[in-house]
Amino acid sequence: MTATAGFDAVDLIRAKRDGGELADEEVDWLVSAYAKGNIPDEQMAAWLMATYWRGMAARELSRFTGAIVASGEVIDLSGLSRPTVDKHSTGGVGDKVSLVLVPLLATIGAAVPQLSGRGLGHTGGTLDKLEAIPGWRSRLTNEEVLAQLETVGCVICAAGDGLAPADRKLYALRDVTGTVESIPLIASSIMSKKIAEGTSSLVLDVKVGTGAFMAERSRAAELARTMVELGRARGMNVVALLTAMDVPLGRAVGNALEVAEAVETLQGRGPADLVDVTAALAEVMLELTGLKGDPRRALAEAAAMPKWREMVRAQGGDPDAPLPEAPLVELVVAEQEGVITALEARAVGVAAWRLGAGRARKEDPVSASAGIICLVKPGEKVGKGQPLLELRTDDPARLDRARQALQGAIAIGDEAPAPGPLVLGRVG
Ligand code: URA
Repeated sequence: MTATAGFDAVDLIRAKRDGGELADEEVDWLVSAYAKGNIPDEQMAAWLMATYWRGMAARELSRFTGAIVASGEVIDLSGLSRPTVDKHSTGGVGDKVSLVLVPLLATIGAAVPQLSGRGLGHTGGTLDKLEAIPGWRSRLTNEEVLAQLETVGCVICAAGDGLAPADRKLYALRDVTGTVESIPLIASSIMSKKIAEGTSSLVLDVKVGTGAFMAERSRAAELARTMVELGRARGMNVVALLTAMDVPLGRAVGNALEVAEAVETLQGRGPADLVDVTAALAEVMLELTGLKGDPRRALAEAAAMPKWREMVRAQGGDPDAPLPEAPLVELVVAEQEGVITALEARAVGVAAWRLGAGRARKEDPVSASAGIICLVKPGEKVGKGQPLLELRTDDPARLDRARQALQGAIAIGDEAPAPGPLVLGRVG
């Protein structure tokens, strides 16, 4: 079927292919007809590829995002007694910031509604990490989300099927048609879900570097600007930080391993880079909500630990249960002595994924216990034969491909590299 309610999908594909802009009613029709199954995948795929090359005008993108939001429900958080603020990361290796930041902000007095997705590819997903906790459940009804926000002050759970359903279909199609890496399509996909979630304020952690979705700073900055504008056009307070992702954040990469490191951070014993990025994002969230607090001090004093326990328990998890441990542990050792000059985030992420921590397709299961512990980080001295990485897996057949991914990932030199800043810039 191509023509419904006066529009023809082929006309809209041609218009975009030739660099034209779609009118508001055309955008609304395209998204709604596709969500209802009235435009077939092959036509939408052609339109997405034309958009990948031609981009979208600001007005068109704002309308497109609004149409995705309108394809489903919008959660109304206006009745909550605390200001709402959320954080979204574009994804990095070892990025367990949400696990620390969400209870931290709730401890200071915000309501944090984090409706998340799962990991795909070499970057992990927050839900996969939390599912390593025995009993924890990711699926909540909207009523449960609201109740938990009122009683606990924070929730991290799966975005329900009713939220931006057009994005779910569009994202699945982009995934198999080479159209994921488009700034307007990424920005509308992320922001439609955050708008539908109902948060008043949002901080975006846009990762830049070899371990990030966007390796180039200029593209990351453009993505950040586009998302900030989309949120502000809908009345949301949005700021984006650009943060470095060339080296894994913290030392743990993999689901249960990252939960354990997040808990150590909440106990005041976190690695410096994870604490710095979490505190920088928390400070922006306080600014956006007008709340007062000292995130660094709260972390150092383990002030958010009770909130973490409350949040995990509220979703059926046992915060005291031992986390799953992989039966197989293999070490990668230094071939020479010197100083670590590089530890490639992407390679470590791909290796952890191959060990079982990540998935290649949405429906694949993940291992809770697989992953990598980075025993050393750039700037640290090593001796010949010293263990550098600990590879953990449930399946010995996975080790070879993980080792291959790590070829050339660690560089050892004579001089420590100058430490670069973790926060590279701010938009908004
Ligand atoms: N995450 C999303 O939700 N959408 C994208 O397009 C890319 C990353």
